[in-house]
Amino acid sequence: MMPGYLPDRQFMEFTMHELGLAMNVKEIVEGAAKDNGAAKIKEINIVVGEFSSVAIEALEFAMEVVKKDSLFHDAKINIKSTKTILLCSECGKETVMKDFIFKCNSCGSGAVRIIAGDRMYVDSIDIE
Ligand SMILES: [Zn+2]
Repeated sequence: MMPGYLPDRQFMEFTMHELGLAMNVKEIVEGAAKDNGAAKIKEINIVVGEFSSVAIEALEFAMEVVKKDSLFHDAKINIKSTKTILLCSECGKETVMKDFIFKCNSCGSGAVRIIAGDRMYVDSIDIE
């Protein structure tokens, strides 16, 4: 961020959420690196579900903030978005959610629940 630049409030509130998530990621990956006796993390792969209310751009920014003074200060951070997957209890099929509507895309039933795409997680890390 540029010195003297005052970010608008909405962006800051938005980013605070992602900053908390980025701090969790830092704990997870540094914990995993220590458990494996690694001194350095080369790559971090994060998956963000489209239904998770995580803004990818804000998360990218937050990861840059927590990177400093971490075991992954020069790591490559990949953030991938995934679709929301619904499981239908009528026909038993798994389909991709469209336009955030809770409806099976195979038989049209509303008896569905989200089985993927509603969370953010660290998929993998590459350590040295
Ligand atoms: Zn169905």
